[in-house]
Amino acid sequence: MKKIKDIFHKRKRPKKIPSAQSYRSSLKYKEFRQKVLKRDGHKCRKCSTKNKLTVHHIKNLSGNQGLAYDTKNGITLCRKCHDLRHHIERVKV
Ligand SMILES: [Zn+2]
Ligand SMILES: [Zn+2]
Repeated sequence: MKKIKDIFHKRKRPKKIPSAQSYRSSLKYKEFRQKVLKRDGHKCRKCSTKNKLTVHHIKNLSGNQGLAYDTKNGITLCRKCHDLRHHIERVKV
């Protein structure tokens, strides 16, 4: 009887760029998010609300994967301020 576990370990997974969804569900991202939330006191850095918090990346991640888990590149914003920020950034370019 073959051990299923061994087969699983030997199989090589193709390396591909993680999608946004898998990135956000990764343990590394969760750790990064928790660190940023803790540093910012679990409140929006703009309006100080504690509701619907998201962690925003200050610098765009495209072409700079190293920034994805850098807490210096993270900022706690509520959903409202976050949306606004993206809106502004898009307009400003
Ligand atoms: Zn806010
Ligand atoms: Zn954002």
